Amino acid sequence: MTTMESGMEQLMEELHQCRRCGICRNAVYDARGFDGICPVYENSTGFETSFMRGKIIVALALLNGELEKTARNSESLFDCTLCGNCTQICPAEFEPAHTLELVRGLLAEVPNQVREEIAHKILSNNNPYEEDNSRKRKWISELGFDIPTNGEILYFVGCTAGMRIPEVAKNTAKILKAADLPFAVLQEEPCCGSVLLRTGKPEAAAETAERVSNAIKESGAKKIVVSCAGCLKTLKEDFPNKFDIELPEVLHILELADNLLQEGRLKPKALPGKNTVTYHDPCHMGRELSIYESPRRVIQAIPNVNLVEMETNRDTAMCCGAGGGLRSYNSELAKNIASKRVQDAIDTGANILATACPFCEHNLQSGAKIVGRNMPIKDVVSLLAECVE
Ligand code: SF4
Ligand code: SF4
Repeated sequence: MTTMESGMEQLMEELHQCRRCGICRNAVYDARGFDGICPVYENSTGFETSFMRGKIIVALALLNGELEKTARNSESLFDCTLCGNCTQICPAEFEPAHTLELVRGLLAEVPNQVREEIAHKILSNNNPYEEDNSRKRKWISELGFDIPTNGEILYFVGCTAGMRIPEVAKNTAKILKAADLPFAVLQEEPCCGSVLLRTGKPEAAAETAERVSNAIKESGAKKIVVSCAGCLKTLKEDFPNKFDIELPEVLHILELADNLLQEGRLKPKALPGKNTVTYHDPCHMGRELSIYESPRRVIQAIPNVNLVEMETNRDTAMCCGAGGGLRSYNSELAKNIASKRVQDAIDTGANILATACPFCEHNLQSGAKIVGRNMPIKDVVSLLAECVE
């Protein structure tokens, strides 16, 4: 049996674990005071295929050959943020969101213009935004200090922070500087490949992983700091598990900042004004890697800040809507999901919605426009950078 065949056999076994119980549609977490777990189901037509049970039935039919592998027949498999909320509650012995990611990878022959375009952009530009990749270092010129390209601590910026939300990159750099930690940023940083993996392009992701690994080796890094939950999950977990690539230790900047605050190497001053902050857990950082407390400890370490929780938080947090490639596949649905998350934040009475992933921040900004209320959305990194020098 070839590796491909045994991989397929294992995947089919996993898909058959689904008990068809439907808990993934609308579980009622009475004890936690909310119901509903699938953001796609909650924000779309409510057809069976909008939540995981229906997606698994479609996946089995496509892989068994009972359903023709067409773009239309496979559409529902791509209308999913891979947020893992269904995995969290599924009583069967498999992980539905991870399994769906693998299914996407095996449906290579299904025509899908969106994922082909994303893969083409990343492989030819080293970023999904079709911009000159050197722009990923542009924010450095606004800092007032230079950052070398080699060093023992490497800040891996990521495409979204580097090119869409440079405030996150600048503020990460300010925190490292305030803690007196010398660090480097690659000259030509390749995309981590997260979006390739999530959209079902594992071979393209293996190619980017090789590029990233070589660039990191050349930089002499012994520790890697990231500010994006997608980069974190990809470099820390997918590289060793899927590509057998072991990188030096990978940490989110908020995990590092949490340690630095506890050691007294960062001493935040009070943030001016009245600040009630609620924190949105990025799926890749929370449910995937169980990093729930460091971002909250960082928020609470800032004098004059009060942290309040949304109804769904930590392992039950609703998704921002951007994950799993949904922002590219179905941007309207992704933005509607984001608007619900912004409403969750407004309902807490907070005046700042904070998160720890530029991808979440970007989509939540779109959601805030739909809600039409002024709810500032900030990265925790930016909150902290405002009060350290
Ligand atoms: S994916 Fe899990 S929760 Fe959903 S129907 Fe199947 S067994 Fe039930
Ligand atoms: S991974 Fe998230 S969006 Fe996808 S089916 Fe499960 S709960 Fe719904």
